[in-house]
This record gives sequence, structure tokens and C-alpha cells, in this order.
Amino acid sequence: NNTVKIGIVGYGNLGRGVELAVNRSSDMELVAVFTRREPSSIQASVPAYTIEDAAKFVDKIDVMVLCGGSATDLPEQGPLFARSFHTVDSFDRHAKIPEYFAAMDEVATAAGKISVISTGWDPGLFSLHRMLGEAILPEGNEYTFWGKGVSQGHSDAIRRVPGVKNGVQYTIPSEDAVQRVRDGENPDLTTREKHIRVCYVVKDVHADADKIESEIKTMPNYFADYDTTVYFITEEQLQAEHAAMPHGGTVLRSGTTGSGNKQIMEFGLQLGSNPEFTASVVAASARAAYKMAAAGQRGAKTIFDIPPAYLSSESPASLRKRLL
Ligand code: NAP
Repeated sequence: NNTVKIGIVGYGNLGRGVELAVNRSSDMELVAVFTRREPSSIQASVPAYTIEDAAKFVDKIDVMVLCGGSATDLPEQGPLFARSFHTVDSFDRHAKIPEYFAAMDEVATAAGKISVISTGWDPGLFSLHRMLGEAILPEGNEYTFWGKGVSQGHSDAIRRVPGVKNGVQYTIPSEDAVQRVRDGENPDLTTREKHIRVCYVVKDVHADADKIESEIKTMPNYFADYDTTVYFITEEQLQAEHAAMPHGGTVLRSGTTGSGNKQIMEFGLQLGSNPEFTASVVAASARAAYKMAAAGQRGAKTIFDIPPAYLSSESPASLRKRLL
């Protein structure tokens, strides 16, 4: 049969999300999870194995979904797994994508495999809509707004401030800025005008709140260029009200055609769980990787290269009849 056999490499937020998405897809089957931790410590719906054990699965798994972190895991695990399996990952260091693509393309091409890199929502669905906007409305401007959502990088940054015990940072788009774009104003927006940042901080008992607040607000790269609000809360409040991982955003293309008719394209996401949504895009991309390989394609691919229908479990005839 044509069931796509899936392996998950790395069992964190994204790995657990891929498990949920694959288990809900009748055309895909989760075979195993691979981890750097002691496999017996992993509670998954399928058996867990070490990374080294993966070599025994070359005939049992079609696509390895790489769920490690983009900073250090994927640059190492990507080329390692692309040698023996089709792979899919959500590598999200935008500036490093050309370099990562080249490394994956070399290995996957030599091995006769497909590696879909940097899929998810950004990079991923947002990239696709930026591209569509430009292709369709070459005269115009592109705007991406992120949030409301938790930024892992900014949350990590506030937790490194002396006196901070715990903290969560939300990136929030400026409603006024979004509205101006929707109205077709084509505004030139500064960094400060596009997003605001809100921090919920748990401080050490004796730490000076004013000092922490000013250190956060003046932190270069992370906060200095934004209007930032800092709230001090208790650990209990943080766990109860800020443990979820919501995110989302909007990609807008504001352009003109003909003798100046305004045209606005908008794609938006409101995500209750960033990792589970990312995982759902990644799982659909695994299905597409399998179909691209079956069609004789090789090498590294991105969302730009995936024929849209390959993401679906439906037949082309059914898609034409129901959705076209
Ligand atoms: P994470 O939870 O930190 O997991 C990363 C890795 O850390 C896991 O693969 C796992 O590897 C290890 N790990 C997880 N929990 C652990 C624990 N309790 N103790 C020790 N090690 C643990 O990261 P994530 O939230 O899944 O995110 C993964 C990547 O997804 C991010 O780096 C980001 O690049 C990407 N992402 C992309 C998009 C997009 O739109 N493209 C969106 C969101 C995220 P082992 O099982 O091998 O230990």
C-alpha cells in the first residue's frame, strides 16, 4: 500500500506535534521516534530508539521528520539523515537558509533523496504568501506582522537578566499599523511602529524591579528599538496564564494594477499552539516529499518547490471536483 512511513528525530514540542499530526492522517504511519536521550525515558505512542539505531530503519521508514532545534541540532542532524532517508525540517534561521540548503542539497542529491527544508509557517506558509504577493502584484509593498505570540528568543533574553527567575515575552503587532496597510496607505513603517513587546517577569524576592525593567527595555537588538511594557507577576500566575505557546501573524501585499487600482492580498494565522501548527505543516510536507521522490525528484527543496496538491492526501481528481 501507499502509506508513508514516518520517523521522528528529536522529541520536543515540535516532535510531539508531528506525532499528533501523523497519527491523525490515514495515509501516514508513525513508525518510531529517535532521540539523543535515554530512549526508555521517552513516553511516545511508538517505540523510541537512539539516533544510532536509525541505520536499522532504512527499509522501514520513508521520511524522517527532523524536529531538533535550528541553532545547533539541524546543521548536524540534517546532513546525517539526508544520507539515508528523505527528510523534512523546519530550519528557521532565515539568514542561514542558503548555506543550510546547499549542505542538504549536496548530500540529498548524492544519496538520491529528497530533503524539504525550512517548512512550517515562517519560514513556510508566510514565505509562500510573500512570494505569491510579489509574483501577482509586482508593483507594491510586502508587510509581515508577527503575533500576538510568544517569542522564544526574547523570552530567553529576559530570563538571562540578573534578578529574573522566569519570564515570557509576547510580540504584538500594532493594530494601527496593520489597519494602515489594509487601507492601502502603503506606509513606511519603522520597527517601533510595527510591533510592541510585552514581558511578564517573575523576579527573585530581593531583586530590584526598576533595575530589571530598565535593563530589559534598553537591551540592544531585542528591546531597545521597541515600545516595551514589563509586568511583574508570580511564578504561579506565569504557570497558570502564560504556559501556552500561541503565535501567528499576517502577511500583506499592498499593490496596484492598471491605472492605480488598489489590490490587497492578506494571509493570516491565529495559532493556539505554535509547535502543533508548525508540526501540521511539517507533516503535510512529509507527504509531499514522498510524492516528489516518487516522481523522480532529488535534492533539497523548499515550500516554493512543492506542487500544492502534493500536500494533500486527496487525489487530484477529488481536489478538482471539491475545491477548485
Ligand atoms: P524543543 O522543544 O526545545 O526541542 C528541541 C530538541 O530538544 C528536541 O528535538 C529534543 O531532542 C530536545 N529536547 C526536547 N525536550 C527535552 C527535554 N525535556 N530534555 C532534554 N532535551 C529535550 O524545540 P521545539 O519547540 O520542538 O522547536 C524545534 C525547532 O522548530 C526550533 O528550533 C525552530 O527552529 C523550529 N520552528 C520552526 C517554525 C517554522 O515556522 N518554520 C516554527 C516553530 C518552530 P532529543 O529528543 O534528541 O533530546
